[in-house]
Amino acid sequence: MNRVRCLVLNAALGPLDYRVPEGMAVEAGSVVACPLGPRTVIGIVWEAERLPGTDVPAEKLRPLREILPVPPLPAPLRRLIEWTADYYVAPLAAVTRMALSSGGALKGPATMVEYRLTGGMPERMTPQRQTAMEALENEQATIRELAGIAGVSEGVLRGLVNQGVLEPVEVDCDRPYHQARPDFARVDLNPEQAEAAEVFAAAVRRREFAPFLLDGVTGSGKTETYFEPVAEAIRAGRQVLVLLPEIALTEAFLGRFEARFGAKPVLWHSSLKSTERRRAWRSIAAGEAQVVVGARSALFLPFPGLGLIVIDEAHEVSFKQDDGVRYNARDVAVMRARFEGVPVILASATPALESLAMAENGTYAKIDLPSRYGAAELPAIRTIDLTEEKPGRGAWLAGPLVTALEDRLDRGEQSLLFLNRRGYAPLTLCRNCGFRFQCPNCSAWLVEHRFSRRLACHHCGHETAPPETCPECGEPDCLVACGPGVERIADEVAERLPDARTFVATSDTLNSPGRAAEFVALVEGGAVDIIIGTQLVTKGFHFPELTLVGVVDADLGLEGGDLRAAERTYQQIAQVAGRAGRGDKPGEVLLQTRHPEAPVIAALAQGDRDGFYEAETEARRFAGAPPFGRWAAIIVSSEEESEAREAANRIGRARPAQDELAIYGPAPAPLSLLRNRYRYRLLINARRSAQLQDTIREWLGALDHPAGVRVAVDIDPYSFV
Ligand code: ADP
Ligand code: ZN
Repeated sequence: MNRVRCLVLNAALGPLDYRVPEGMAVEAGSVVACPLGPRTVIGIVWEAERLPGTDVPAEKLRPLREILPVPPLPAPLRRLIEWTADYYVAPLAAVTRMALSSGGALKGPATMVEYRLTGGMPERMTPQRQTAMEALENEQATIRELAGIAGVSEGVLRGLVNQGVLEPVEVDCDRPYHQARPDFARVDLNPEQAEAAEVFAAAVRRREFAPFLLDGVTGSGKTETYFEPVAEAIRAGRQVLVLLPEIALTEAFLGRFEARFGAKPVLWHSSLKSTERRRAWRSIAAGEAQVVVGARSALFLPFPGLGLIVIDEAHEVSFKQDDGVRYNARDVAVMRARFEGVPVILASATPALESLAMAENGTYAKIDLPSRYGAAELPAIRTIDLTEEKPGRGAWLAGPLVTALEDRLDRGEQSLLFLNRRGYAPLTLCRNCGFRFQCPNCSAWLVEHRFSRRLACHHCGHETAPPETCPECGEPDCLVACGPGVERIADEVAERLPDARTFVATSDTLNSPGRAAEFVALVEGGAVDIIIGTQLVTKGFHFPELTLVGVVDADLGLEGGDLRAAERTYQQIAQVAGRAGRGDKPGEVLLQTRHPEAPVIAALAQGDRDGFYEAETEARRFAGAPPFGRWAAIIVSSEEESEAREAANRIGRARPAQDELAIYGPAPAPLSLLRNRYRYRLLINARRSAQLQDTIREWLGALDHPAGVRVAVDIDPYSFV
């Protein structure tokens, strides 16, 4: 058969058929260059029977141009791409693009020249030449690197090249990674950990799909435990993917991994340089990269020999992508494991309700680690009722919290204050006329960042310098900050505890792996007394000297229209509380709240996780919310307000009438203007039995809109703004 069907990387086009020219051997998955009009697009040869056909007669087909120099995309990955596109109502081309995520790799190997000794002798020996030749025995590298190794100038080595003593060798720019060694530094697991590890390792050996929920309290050693099946996969020559929710966490993970396995894993995230991306992608596609640690986009990498997937902090909402293909990496990871026929471990101290439900109905095997490793105990949690313990004017920390901070300072222990608000103040206004600083591109207030002297929009990145006078009434020096952000808390700490050394830890200050590593080193080295941080510090970090966690505003997450607000608040506070008392000194957690009686806060204070989950589960059942029913959102946007509104109304009028669906809206989105686009939303609540995706496809597929209108579908949404 010399006719093939290709999925081309253009979301506006369906699959296209091509002729395979004489002498070209393609198979399903081959990455090829396809002619399209006068241009060339990248395509993937696909099983023809799995894609809708075209009826172009054979003699009209255009020939493929060439096969790109990369291995064919493996069949399980092709199945994953199909599933993701189908489930999330996304174009196949857009999902496939996530798999071909290194443009450089598609161009094939890049080469460079290295040098090595030939065994020949120079015509004239000098002491420097002598030194170089002795030092470079068995070495091969660039001239510059060799000069470094030998401690001579590059000129000396060039001379040796001219003499034929060193010869050039063309090598691949992408060097192989160091090999991880499964038995490099094994740890002694305690009996609970060992039992869990053996269950996982056995699943790796069986090479079957097996989903696990590793439900272990903070500090129980979930990482040490899942390192064992990772070792088992390496021993079997299989590849491993570990997904982490945040790049800021990878640095600490890399260190731990290297200590255990003697080499760093392969990193994958969106801010890799293009050369690093090429090296990683090619090594993964070749089956050489053993363990890949990455953000959610690593899920679509072309592993040919996966043996295990781990999703650490699996409850984290950052696994949900909120633009482009709106997928949830946690759920897609389980599907990948299924198509690959391998185990997948979801690790968390505060699993998502959906994951617990899967464990309860027997789909996932639940493995528990109910106590902290070693002598460490879970911290005691107490509430501070802000209606009784009022902080003074312009202050945010109540008396008992300040006392507790002083106490730690005296004992030389560390504290963490948690407030999930970057910047100095969430709102700035004019004292004279009440003018509020708003983003010109979004319906959002500008957040004052005092350290960097700017007003910034956290949605679109718009920034301006704080003006000297009010832009509305012209009054000078009239700006007042309303409400606290972490920077303002840092100011308050500086005033009330002047001796404390503080560190404000947010995505503004820990914005690269290097800065995250510096932060970890400072805290571990005892150079910080009080960390003041956003959600970024709630997870993963292990600081043994940290004994106090203060939650500045435990009620914050309960405000607003988030349908998962209670669960999220519970998870966030339980996670940040989990940073306290991880060493041999006991930890304490103080929650500042105006609603100590609210069920979430009460459950946290009583350490009643089961009670909270049960109550929340009942509420979800009553509301038909996940896992009992499903949600989907349709987001309509345009730069023209009227165009967005009309398109949303058109969609609203065409709504399908089905008993299994309740459709709300259209209504202006809470963020009704975002990056200069006006937004409307519809929310769908579906029974589990509904054919949700098919219905949405049919409904939206029958409507046409002006070119400026975008209609996005969000299945299982996490964001409701
Ligand atoms: P979790 O991910 O469950 O919060 P970690 O894996 O970070 O827990 O473990 C908490 C701390 O206890 C870490 O410093 C870890 O190295 C240590 N630890 C856990 N299990 C062991 C073990 N079996 N041997 C030595 N140290 C351990
Ligand atoms: Zn904005």
